[in-house]
Amino acid sequence: MVEIDREECLGCEACVEVCPEVFDFDASEGKAFVKDDVTGDEACIDEAIASCPASCITNE
Ligand code: SF4
Repeated sequence: MVEIDREECLGCEACVEVCPEVFDFDASEGKAFVKDDVTGDEACIDEAIASCPASCITNE
């Protein structure tokens, strides 16, 4: 299950750029979120985790 610790999210949108199938951006809050129907492949998710400057994405 992919999760974002939204307290820590910096709103950089790196995860959305790398893996738009899984992550989306809430412009009103300035934070990313995980889409409901996650169909992204694991490599894409791993790339997003690696690119997150706040290290606030987990996949467990
Ligand atoms: S990469 Fe990390 S800090 Fe940047 S928007 Fe995504 S979850 Fe937030």
